[in-house]
Amino acid sequence: MTAAGPPAGLRRFREPPPPETPRCEMCAEPLEERHGHVVNVQTRALLCTCRGCSLVMPGSGPGARYRGVPERHLHLPGFRLTAADWEALQIPVRAAFFFHHSVLGRYVAFYPSPAGAAESLLPLDAWDDVLAANPEAPRPLPDVEAYLVDRGPERLACHLVPIDACYELVGLVRLHWKGFHGGPEAWRAIDGFFAEIRARAGEDRRV
Ligand SMILES: [Zn+2]
Ligand SMILES: [Zn+2]
Repeated sequence: MTAAGPPAGLRRFREPPPPETPRCEMCAEPLEERHGHVVNVQTRALLCTCRGCSLVMPGSGPGARYRGVPERHLHLPGFRLTAADWEALQIPVRAAFFFHHSVLGRYVAFYPSPAGAAESLLPLDAWDDVLAANPEAPRPLPDVEAYLVDRGPERLACHLVPIDACYELVGLVRLHWKGFHGGPEAWRAIDGFFAEIRARAGEDRRV
């Protein structure tokens, strides 16, 4: 028996391979941790992309397959949405997001649930009324931006956010939600998420 270990070549072979670098799902460039996203309008898939690919110009008419997700976060303090409107929408949870689905040609509503994003299947006349009451509010770009409504403990708050932020919230709920009421960990995560959205909205307004 020799004291020497296995030959260097063999040792190298046994080492675990380096973790695979995440790559842009459109052009295969290596990605940084903070990266952009692109929506495949047909499949609704959100692709992780490099900066160049996420700048794919949003919407070049019907048939545009990929839309880059913009970065603007806007707090809309003047958005008119009453508790009665919220009741009419029958969203069973604290937060929901509404975006214009260009393939369906109408707004759709989703809310986070422990099983992922749940679609509100109610007719959205109530939401059309809300939009009609807010003619001056900036409109989200179809497919890639959404109105995110937070029925916080004190009042309703509406933000205009990139669609990937909505999916981030969905992911947090899915990861942390326990039992019927979510549990403290889930609520900490949700509160933290909305604090970050408010901070981003403040930064974007200064630009
Ligand atoms: Zn790319
Ligand atoms: Zn990503």
